[in-house]
Amino acid sequence: MSDFNWCHGPECHTKHTVDRVRGVKGSKVLRTRKIKLNNWNSGSQWGFFCSNHCQNDFWKTYATQIVAIAPRTECQETPILDPERKKHTHEYSWGNHSYYDTKIEVDETRQS
Ligand SMILES: [Zn+2]
Repeated sequence: MSDFNWCHGPECHTKHTVDRVRGVKGSKVLRTRKIKLNNWNSGSQWGFFCSNHCQNDFWKTYATQIVAIAPRTECQETPILDPERKKHTHEYSWGNHSYYDTKIEVDETRQS
């Protein structure tokens, strides 16, 4: 198995950066970036893309084909308990500060 991937960004080899310049004088090229695989990037998108930009280019080109792998034709739902809106007040030397938050909890009794 190879210990690297070529970046899958369809435009990677067209970006003007000096690290992509390869070849001998008189026949220089911009080359797709090589991604060395390691514990950090193996199995994630960073093992296939050298940058967010290249990943975005890939999505722009192949989005329809990518989602066809696992199409979502219906929404999904997670059962929750009735949300509780709660006021929190903190006392400071200069006065009180209050804020509200809403607690959302999964209803484990309704899990399928
Ligand atoms: Zn790239």
